[in-house]
Amino acid sequence: CGVFGVRDPQQPAAHLTYLGLFALQHRGQESAGMAVSDGGKITIDKDMGLVSAIFDEYRLQALPGTMAIGHTRYATTGASAWRNAQPVARHAGGTFFALGHNGNLVNTAELAGDRPDADLDSDSDVVAALIADALTADPQIADGDGALIAALAAVLPRLQGAFSFVIMDETRLIGARDAHGFRPLFLGQCDTGGWVLASETPALNVVSARVIREIDPGEAVVIDDEGVHSFQFAPPQSRALCSFEFVYIARPDGTLGGVGVHAARRRMGRALARQKPVDADMVMPIPDSSIPGAQGYAAESGIEYGDGLIKNRYIGRTFIAPSQKLRDNAVRIKFNAIEDNVVGKRLVVVEDSIVRATTLRATMRLLRDAGAAEIHLRVLSAPYRWSCFYGLDTSDRSKLVAATMSIEQIRDHLGADSLAYLELDQMLTAISPEPGGFCTACMTGDYPVPIPGMLTT
Ligand code: SF4
Repeated sequence: CGVFGVRDPQQPAAHLTYLGLFALQHRGQESAGMAVSDGGKITIDKDMGLVSAIFDEYRLQALPGTMAIGHTRYATTGASAWRNAQPVARHAGGTFFALGHNGNLVNTAELAGDRPDADLDSDSDVVAALIADALTADPQIADGDGALIAALAAVLPRLQGAFSFVIMDETRLIGARDAHGFRPLFLGQCDTGGWVLASETPALNVVSARVIREIDPGEAVVIDDEGVHSFQFAPPQSRALCSFEFVYIARPDGTLGGVGVHAARRRMGRALARQKPVDADMVMPIPDSSIPGAQGYAAESGIEYGDGLIKNRYIGRTFIAPSQKLRDNAVRIKFNAIEDNVVGKRLVVVEDSIVRATTLRATMRLLRDAGAAEIHLRVLSAPYRWSCFYGLDTSDRSKLVAATMSIEQIRDHLGADSLAYLELDQMLTAISPEPGGFCTACMTGDYPVPIPGMLTT
């Protein structure tokens, strides 16, 4: 998911949020929404589909105010359905609040307890319910002017797993990040003095905000008339920034943990060329996220870089689509081969990762049909063998090809002449020379926050 928040008395928040969400569209394409406050009243608008399909000038005009939060959704827990679109909102103890969530909690069932509320089918709903409980159950919390802050201070430490939140009441904008820092969250400032929160730096750039800093693990920032205040709701734990943000999720034009994503992907490509060389005529990416990696592979190997596939720019990511059937359909309209460029050639085809392999298998067939003489598939990450419980929808391990097949079986399944993955240590060094600090659970089974009921050995 992508989250965004803005509080700028000089600018209409809905329009800025629209731009921010547009820049975060790649993080979730199932639904999008925003909550906008005019200082006294919060209006929420959300729907299924892409940001550009949901919001137009008419709809934005109906959202007056100078503070807002926004969300683009990629379903992890909870169905891809309107009722799970975000922001979620609640009215409790005299406070109205709205919340947008990127990440996935691992103790949702424990947090939900035996509450009868049938509508709680996503972890974000459970968090909103807990905050509402805190706002009503504790008279000390309910009465104060900063009721929402007090409620968050009580609730956030109980949450386990991955979360980057944007939250607001009528007058305050709040950002909070889990104690391991699984998912990114940035603070930026506009020329006008207004403040912005966003999952990725390009969403700050698009509203002309400068990056001030990342929200620290275990930190919440509260933005009000006086500026930015910060409190630590939990002590920071060993940092576990999702390494897949660098491989696949994040935009290449951003930085994460002080590291440029594009440059990191190029270094992964260079490392892959050193580690898994092959004799070939052309290095080509599977567009778009593999492009910097393929450039790196070509530069390091001295093999010519070229384009073998054109991607239809108007289709969402197929991996991120919510059902297998949708993914199958999407493959056919996603890519087309540039026949002249691939016919008779020995190709190094660079891909960022192999998760379910549906798209990749069809793409390999496309290249063969276009006349490729040999296909040497090179993958910029280590084999994706374990489910992610921190914000990617890969909880069904049986769907992960590397969990059920050997590398030779995957090569055969995909119809490639050779297949090689970047070793994990090389991948991490390519991201950052400093050791540690990343979640690698989907490649190692080493979960930074234990998954209740799961044996990981
Ligand atoms: Fe990222 Fe993989 Fe960790 Fe999930 S398990 S947070 S995808 S590194």
